[in-house]
Amino acid sequence: MKIFNTASMRKEEFVPITPGKITMYVCGPTVYNFIHIGNARPMIVFDTFRRYMEHKGYEVNYVSNFTDVDDKIIKAAIEEGTTTTEISERYIRECLKDMEGMNIEPATYHPRATQEISGMIAMIGTLIDKGYAYEKNGTVYFSTRKDKNYGELSHKNLDDLRSGFRSLKVSGEDEKEDPLDFVLWKPKKEGEPYWESPWGQGRPGWHIECSVMAKRYLGDTIDIHAGGEDLIFPHHENEIAQSTCANGVPFAHYWMHNAFLNIDNKKMSKSLGNFFTVRDISRKYDLQVLRLFMLSAHYRSPLNFSDKLMESAKVSLERIRTAAEHLKDLAENGKGGEMTDAEKAVLDEAKGYIARFDEKMDDDNNTADALSVVFELVRFANSNVTEGATKALAQGVLDVLTELCDVLGIIALPKKESLDDEIESLIEKRQAARKARDFATADRIRDELRAQGIELLDTKEGVKWKRI
Ligand code: AMP
Ligand code: ZN
Repeated sequence: MKIFNTASMRKEEFVPITPGKITMYVCGPTVYNFIHIGNARPMIVFDTFRRYMEHKGYEVNYVSNFTDVDDKIIKAAIEEGTTTTEISERYIRECLKDMEGMNIEPATYHPRATQEISGMIAMIGTLIDKGYAYEKNGTVYFSTRKDKNYGELSHKNLDDLRSGFRSLKVSGEDEKEDPLDFVLWKPKKEGEPYWESPWGQGRPGWHIECSVMAKRYLGDTIDIHAGGEDLIFPHHENEIAQSTCANGVPFAHYWMHNAFLNIDNKKMSKSLGNFFTVRDISRKYDLQVLRLFMLSAHYRSPLNFSDKLMESAKVSLERIRTAAEHLKDLAENGKGGEMTDAEKAVLDEAKGYIARFDEKMDDDNNTADALSVVFELVRFANSNVTEGATKALAQGVLDVLTELCDVLGIIALPKKESLDDEIESLIEKRQAARKARDFATADRIRDELRAQGIELLDTKEGVKWKRI
């Protein structure tokens, strides 16, 4: 298995610290709003990477945090006249719902920054004791000049950066000894959440959160650290500085970064009006379409979001599901008995697609090419497993297809909710009542469904329903 390591800027063979096990940390979202489709990209690509490693037999300890104390959360709380806890709890809940919709497995741990403050105070204390950090009037800074390896991840020319920063005096941070020094602890401001610390009441800087949560849940040295490419500098560079200086050992062996998602070839931004939350998209598409769309590009290539590409992902998903449904139908209703020799050869060939799929994924999580292998398998199944096939052959090929789809987090055979049948039967009763011009009964059924959170939509293709 090869992984492109941002630290070395090349593909490296993956060797875990402990054979058979992987420790992986993925920087999670700041929870001040619904997550947007840009945030969904690292969630989907690294969840797929994790599923693949599990498919290969690794036990993956996967940690992804929620940043629940931050200026944006404080701003949202002030605007709504509520507490930061109310804002962050609400959007963590909503984020978990979106993750479920995108079929992202829950992390082994989802730590929250506000519940890890004592660990942060301890690590900042260690950095001060070891001479890597200093305090000025209630603010603690990391001293970047003390860390001889600072800059090794982002490959930046630090002298250029320093002179660039010099002209930019950051308000409230002008007591820094060096323009590249960054905040580990900041004093409280009126109306902001705060914690007691040896440096007075205040709150942690953003970077220290991840160093502490990675240490607590995964250990001092971890296998893989991942996130979006915007985090390479300064966030990940600063995490490395904090962790290596505090713990005295290397921090992460492999650094993986996804490229950005753009919209109609422009950077997604609220002010340009081209900003979509995952929830917005879920009103128009099954979130499995979004997942398939994200996996159709290599994670290190920029990806452009457009209606056209989403429509094409929708067709692709349907193609997989139609093939899976057909195989399932044959597996249930096909011919009984043993497979013929010709069928055994077909099944062997179908199984061969697993190795081809793995080969693509082994090459730095190449989901785009792996997905192409799935479509080749769909074509192969459509032309080789047809009417007259045995149940055994259809089931065997279906197992191969669902195994590969599972790795990608694509649900080939969506379960029909049992509730659906109940709703469908009420809808039928309502249709019958309308036909009989019994509008009172029809309206009563509509109200009954609404009370259960189901809204009926009369469309050209018949009556549809959605949850409200
Ligand atoms: P944030 O909440 O801004 O800290 O972002 C959470 C994660 O989403 C980080 O890994 C970011 O790098 C990633 N991210 C944010 N915007 C985008 C985008 N447009 N495309 C891809 N990843 C993004
Ligand atoms: Zn982080």
